[in-house]
Amino acid sequence: MPRPILATISTEAMAYNLAQVKSRIQQVQQSSLAYAHRQVMTIAVIKANAYGHGTLNAIKGFAQADALGMIDLADAVLCRENGWDKPILLLEGFFDASDIPLLQHYQLTTAIHHDEQVALLSEAKAVGKPIDVMVKFNTGMNRLGFHISRASHVLDQLHQLQKNNIVGRIGCMTHFANADLCHDAVDESLAQMNRIKDLFGNRVSVCNSAASLRYPEFALVGTENWIRPGICLYGSTPFQTDKEGIPDVVFKPVMTLTARVLAVQSIQKGASIGYGSTFTATEAMRIAVVACGYADGYPRSAKLGTPVTVDGIDSRIIGRVSMDMLTVDITHIPNAGVHSKVVLWGEGGPSIDQVADSAGRIGYELMCNLAKRVPLQIVE
Ligand SMILES: *Cc1c(COP(=O)(O)O)cnc(C)c1O
Repeated sequence: MPRPILATISTEAMAYNLAQVKSRIQQVQQSSLAYAHRQVMTIAVIKANAYGHGTLNAIKGFAQADALGMIDLADAVLCRENGWDKPILLLEGFFDASDIPLLQHYQLTTAIHHDEQVALLSEAKAVGKPIDVMVKFNTGMNRLGFHISRASHVLDQLHQLQKNNIVGRIGCMTHFANADLCHDAVDESLAQMNRIKDLFGNRVSVCNSAASLRYPEFALVGTENWIRPGICLYGSTPFQTDKEGIPDVVFKPVMTLTARVLAVQSIQKGASIGYGSTFTATEAMRIAVVACGYADGYPRSAKLGTPVTVDGIDSRIIGRVSMDMLTVDITHIPNAGVHSKVVLWGEGGPSIDQVADSAGRIGYELMCNLAKRVPLQIVE
């Protein structure tokens, strides 16, 4: 028998969350006639391995999305080979001249964020399948992208490549540094995009999860808008600190991490538990030893009291998380024992955000860090 730990992935929850983001934008769109002719398309951001949920699971769950946002060329090819025929946007673009024939063959849309990429495209051979591009602008994040002042220069080069049948449709995109906050910098970034979007036929992509939820009107700045939600599609929040003014859109957990109890210890007052003896019992206790540790991706930094459920009953972690095990108080759950089911996060347990908070981490990290050794099982 495999070790008793499992992450289940709900494609139904993925589809539900996708619909929630879309309807958030639709509500805003319906609130003003000015928005009537704006189109909004959703790029489900899966980056690599769908934030730990499995790329192929994601293309099932996000079947209703208009496109996928990805990082790795090989993953994008995998999606094509498994039947995804809608657009795929490579968020970091391509990395080498040898990638270009793959972009052409698999019809992958690429971000263009650097002159080097334009130069590589200029040397490419046209094969009758032009590559759609999104020119990425750095509006304050200072990570990827051209400065706004270079927009017409870059565009001139791309128009030339369009004539040569290397480049197809051209749009523009940016990524906010502070969309999870109420922050003047977000308005400033958008103002920069407003200055150049006409050059790009009003084909614009600006909103991640945080912006789609906090600034849904930003999803309607162009005539053709591509929103790029990621984290909320997996049922976790992009907002860690400044939660002011966030609408309560409800998302369903997609990943549920469960494990079984391997052993039970009855300890006396004064006994301590685990490495470093960080917890000492002030009364007699029953402790469940659970088949989940930091080598499974559970955060070692999880504090005393981090929530879990055991056989559906709320409990808490005590003592340090070790590599393959963690320990949970079951003093108040007399029927719990070896084989009892423990939900570490997800359906029937604490939210991944509660666990992340208690561990000084964010939901993104917990999902992405789920270890390969934990089997993923899809539930539909
Ligand atoms: C990760 C990422 C997203 C999605 O961000 P979330 O915070 O997960 O919604 C969107 N766009 C780009 C360029 C990204 O890198």
